[in-house]
Amino acid sequence: MNIVLLGPPGSGKGTQAKRIAEKKRIAPLATGEMLRAEVLSASALGLSVKGIIERGDLVPDAIMIAMIEKRIGDNPSGFILDGFPRDLAQAEALDTMLAARGQKLDRVVLLKIGEEALVDRISGRFTCRGCGASYHDRYQRPRVEGVCDLCGGKDFERRPDDNAPVVRARFAVYRRQTEPIVGYYEKRGILSRVDGTGAVEEVAEAIDRVLG
Ligand code: AMP
Repeated sequence: MNIVLLGPPGSGKGTQAKRIAEKKRIAPLATGEMLRAEVLSASALGLSVKGIIERGDLVPDAIMIAMIEKRIGDNPSGFILDGFPRDLAQAEALDTMLAARGQKLDRVVLLKIGEEALVDRISGRFTCRGCGASYHDRYQRPRVEGVCDLCGGKDFERRPDDNAPVVRARFAVYRRQTEPIVGYYEKRGILSRVDGTGAVEEVAEAIDRVLG
């Protein structure tokens, strides 16, 4: 099964994509995480995109399309995309690369949530440095303070682009460049809208219902 998870920054795509990937035994492909790994390793690609990510802008399409094309080739039995496509050019490129492999997108799930809730969510979130599990200061603390529920790690980190001004910039980019993709998939009849404002488990159940 090939799935795209769409939604503004902070809508819970990362958390939900990991869960769906495990449940459906498909590969979670998160472009933001791939880019952050490049930045951390100080690769040539990482150095070239660091400033763009810190401003909340989009990394050029050619870079992102090449990155995702390789991962899709590595995962013929299915994937869930989190963070890609981010604009119409990426959406069209995704269709082309899938068609070339005799594949298609099965479903696009849009997580819906308002801007104020997003700023509130994003400004409190952090992840485990060991396994990438997501947490939140107010909504999802680890069961044991300071210890990751999943891997037992004790080292956590916050994204440098998770602060209020950059979140607002990322939201504006989402409105301008990413939202037009919603209509593109809706016309094809593969879009499902899910309310992203509830608790993680409630949203997860709503996604399960549309994915069947
Ligand atoms: P995310 O973790 O999905 O919120 O992505 C973090 C940042 O990485 C974004 O604000 C962009 O700067 C960049 N990024 C991630 N995915 C893409 C993409 N598909 N196209 C362009 N830029 C991206």
